[in-house]
Amino acid sequence: MKFKNTLQFAKQSDKEDTLRNYRNKFLIPKANNKQAIYLIGNSLGLQPKTTKQFINEELEDWAKLGGEGHVHSRRPWIYHHQLAKKTLAGIVGAKPSEVIAMNQLTVNLHLMMVSFYTPTTERYKIIVEAGAFSSDQYAFETQIKFHGLNPDKVLIELKPREEEFTLRTEDIVSAIEEHGREVALVILGGVQYYTGQFFNIPKITAAAHSVGAIAGFDLAHAVGNVPLNLHKDQVDFAVWCSYKYLNAGPGAIAGAYIHEKYESNTELPRFAGWWGYDEKERFGMKKGFKPMKGVDGWQLSNVPIFQNAALLASLEIFHEAGIKALRKKSVALTSYLEYILKDIDPLENTLKIITPANPEERGGQLSIFMKQNGKKIFQQLNKAGIIADWREPNVIRIAPVPLYNSFEDIYRVGEILNSLI
Ligand SMILES: *Cc1c(COP(=O)(O)O)cnc(C)c1O
Repeated sequence: MKFKNTLQFAKQSDKEDTLRNYRNKFLIPKANNKQAIYLIGNSLGLQPKTTKQFINEELEDWAKLGGEGHVHSRRPWIYHHQLAKKTLAGIVGAKPSEVIAMNQLTVNLHLMMVSFYTPTTERYKIIVEAGAFSSDQYAFETQIKFHGLNPDKVLIELKPREEEFTLRTEDIVSAIEEHGREVALVILGGVQYYTGQFFNIPKITAAAHSVGAIAGFDLAHAVGNVPLNLHKDQVDFAVWCSYKYLNAGPGAIAGAYIHEKYESNTELPRFAGWWGYDEKERFGMKKGFKPMKGVDGWQLSNVPIFQNAALLASLEIFHEAGIKALRKKSVALTSYLEYILKDIDPLENTLKIITPANPEERGGQLSIFMKQNGKKIFQQLNKAGIIADWREPNVIRIAPVPLYNSFEDIYRVGEILNSLI
């Protein structure tokens, strides 16, 4: 695509965009009495107009049916967890039996680590990215302590090379090989939340498996954003939240994936609850945990229906738009943003993009390292109705989302940034 930094080009691109009408399916917040330019869909995705209806239907059924709604509501509550499976599976590249919406992200990360991090004296190390999201770091630290081990001796934190901002796949692979049979678990983000780097999941997974380690991914910033093939790539487990690119609302129900090869493995240690119990006998309330097959057997509690309803509203839109078409537009929008930033500051006097330049190595986000006046420029962007995200010490993150951002949004960001720098 040949870009131009003009309003006319942006408007023409919007006209030709086959997904342009999806924007009308979302509620776009206001700033200064007009529609904001919302670019933090990587932090909290916007509300689909249908979310209210989905939740209202559950409220109505609860009002009408009370406890009978477990079986007789339009989406019977005892089977509610099955409803998101098909679309979620398409989004992460898995089989419906390998995915489940449940709990919150950090809870799911803990549950997966209980099952997939079982250190021995020979094999105990965990390879992670340095500067992982705080909640993940706390989960790693406390899981390690839970096994009576010392995080300083267990965690191998991978840092970019000097003068570089993102990790090279070859360096990740060689670190895994270097620690070899001592590695129990390799766990990285799918897309790194700070830099926007999309890690090479198949290569990292293969490297982990070549030394006999487990490969897990935190897909918080990847799900609904980049193409994923968890099953084909043989990823052992993954977790994600649904309030970022998946638009399921603040504190939304999260998700988890476990590869089919563990489907009937009852040897894995796990923390169980009744919703993971064999569905056919669940209400027998018997002693002795008998798991459902596959990832369903990791469920703990009965489904938070309103949260799941909100997820279903959003997944309906994903299903209709198609993840392939969304990715195509996402690549175009992000590349357009990159083009415009380079056009207004070609010598990188102020703006240095730290997200990888290769579209295959990033999703719908650019992280911009501000060389000067970062905070001030960020605040002025905000005043001008552009909602972006500030990360200490000096990074602005801008996330164009193909479902509701337009090429004109991107053009406007450039126009205002240009006047500020
Ligand atoms: C957003 C995000 C979280 C947030 O955790 P919650 O359990 O959903 O509060 C955790 N880890 C990563 C990598 C994230 O991007």
